[in-house]
Amino acid sequence: MKFTNKIFKGDSFISLKDYSRDDILNVMQGISSYDDQNLKRFIPNKKKLIANLFYEPSTRTSSSFYAAATYLGHEVLSINNVQYSSIAKGESLEDTIRTLASYVHCIILRHPEEGAAYSATTVSNVPIINAGDGIGEHPTQTLLDLYTIYKEFKRLDRLTVTLMGDLKYGRTIHSLVQALDLFDVHINLIGPHDLKLPFKYYKEEYVENTVLTDWIAMATDVLYITRVQKERGAIGNYAFTEEDAKNLSATCIVMHPLPRNEELGDWFDSDPRAVYFEQMSNGLAVRKYLLGEILG
Ligand code: ASP
Repeated sequence: MKFTNKIFKGDSFISLKDYSRDDILNVMQGISSYDDQNLKRFIPNKKKLIANLFYEPSTRTSSSFYAAATYLGHEVLSINNVQYSSIAKGESLEDTIRTLASYVHCIILRHPEEGAAYSATTVSNVPIINAGDGIGEHPTQTLLDLYTIYKEFKRLDRLTVTLMGDLKYGRTIHSLVQALDLFDVHINLIGPHDLKLPFKYYKEEYVENTVLTDWIAMATDVLYITRVQKERGAIGNYAFTEEDAKNLSATCIVMHPLPRNEELGDWFDSDPRAVYFEQMSNGLAVRKYLLGEILG
């Protein structure tokens, strides 16, 4: 598969704003070829070294990148206890990136500051993959979110997607709306008044509400719930209720980037519309695909 734009050998992956709808559709096809258990055919001739540089906590992103790299036959240098590195001695992100870029072939970066991944690209001669930059973006999460939707509906057009929760600080939302905007998707935004989607991501055609009304629920194909980003100072109170679940159609899917808190109780886990664990496991195929493409 040939890519029309940036997701190919040697490129960084920073923001969804850099991609077109054709890129994304190509990526969906590309990921399917990594979405099986036949790992052997992906073993490359040349082993590469990848740095997993995480300044913020992570379970799924860091471990799925680690697993993806290992299944592809690469090695991973994990730096997540940053208190034991020179970062604790006050080293800047730029100097840390310069250092690692001289040792490894690719850097996967999670950082608390918005724009950090982009800044890293300015001093790195190896690709940077944005694994979450503060309240900015989380583009690899978006690929797995889109892939989950694509697998379920076999399309990314003609869908109604309802994003519910902390839309202000939730970086998965910021990447996802930009990608969904490239498709024929109707977007509803549901969340507390103080946690509205930032202006720079907002489009007039979005329908906004503070609660998931029965009419929004009924029209929804994808309900995407997020937690309150308390560690970023967000305060809010909302939860997906049994009443909401009753209002959703039988063919709707309910997604969540995880981790979850009180906004999504485990009472819903056995409902066939709950796909958040599939979503999480799709992260492996997505990250294998991405590393496969970027490292060649
Ligand atoms: N795991 C996702 C992230 O890193 C979602 C979250 O933390 O709420 O942004």
